[in-house]
Amino acid sequence: MVMTTQKCTKCKNELPATLEHFSPEKRKANGLNSWCRSCRNNKVKVHHKTENGQQQVLNANRKYQKTEKFKVARKRSEDKKKDLSPKQEA
Ligand SMILES: [Zn+2]
Repeated sequence: MVMTTQKCTKCKNELPATLEHFSPEKRKANGLNSWCRSCRNNKVKVHHKTENGQQQVLNANRKYQKTEKFKVARKRSEDKKKDLSPKQEA
């Protein structure tokens, strides 16, 4: 069986050219990102550790908390909690 491999352009590791090892990338001919999944994950992690990255996360959270979507989601999770607690009916 011939296994197609792809070299990650970041860590230079040769990995099987599958979605297990590479994220999907529609613009690419083979549909796979040129960085392996662990390199992509590392980049996100490193970025979130920087001041800029943390600020971005904070801003994104703040922005999200102002949206209707968040309010609905929060209300839903509160309703869920109520449902889970034992009903006390007099
Ligand atoms: Zn890599």
